[in-house]
Amino acid sequence: MSLPKFKRILLKLSGEVLMGNQPFGIDTDFVAEMASEMKAAKDTGLELCLVIGGGNIFRGMAGAAKGMDRAQADYMGMLATIMNALAMQSALEKIGVETRVQSAIQMDEVCEPVIRRRAERHLEKGRIVIFAAGVGSPYFTTDSGAALRAAEMKCDALLKGTSVDGVYDDDPKKNAAAKRYVTVDYDTVLANNLKVMDASAVALCRDNEIPIVVFSIREHGNLARVLAGEGTHTIVQKEA
Ligand code: UDP
Repeated sequence: MSLPKFKRILLKLSGEVLMGNQPFGIDTDFVAEMASEMKAAKDTGLELCLVIGGGNIFRGMAGAAKGMDRAQADYMGMLATIMNALAMQSALEKIGVETRVQSAIQMDEVCEPVIRRRAERHLEKGRIVIFAAGVGSPYFTTDSGAALRAAEMKCDALLKGTSVDGVYDDDPKKNAAAKRYVTVDYDTVLANNLKVMDASAVALCRDNEIPIVVFSIREHGNLARVLAGEGTHTIVQKEA
């Protein structure tokens, strides 16, 4: 199934993607590569919102597993997403793309708070808006943050750029016979607990009829290919 031409999308990158081939943290070369792919997408006239995870630095669940208070650990995870947002902002501005970071945890010295109407103006002016700190509350993830911002910014689709090339009916790393869906219904994803995004994010997209396009961002040039309706990807949507 081919994708319609989008006017405005939200691109969600997991923090892992920013590690490049490193085991941890931020690979600035890889972030620069990502930035140029985003610039190319934006130069086609697309309005771009961005949400970046924090898993390359800190995940609340991992902290909680080691005995930390879960909420405290989650706030640390949210702070990690702000660092990633600033790294991406810096890479984008280096190649002449205007951006604004809006954080769900207020941090006036480094970025703006989330103000939807201001974000609208930024997009109208051709800026990329990077939404940081997820939804701003513990026990959530940046997937939920991405779904929330995609809904409130009325994005045509949520593109999830990750390290796998779509949604499979089983874990492709463990089962060589696992099959990739071309399209799949939100309810199938939820009922079968398919690993796309967490359930609250999928449900929010379902309720607002926002298609989720899952693709590998690790392949060079893939964002442009997917936006052109090519490349390997899975579309999670309401099936007719
Ligand atoms: N987080 C949170 N609330 C949010 C978004 C993120 O508590 O709304 C925390 C949570 O601990 C999470 C971490 O920030 O593990 C990093 O985000 P996430 O795991 O979504 O990053 P990704 O897996 O996309 O790299």
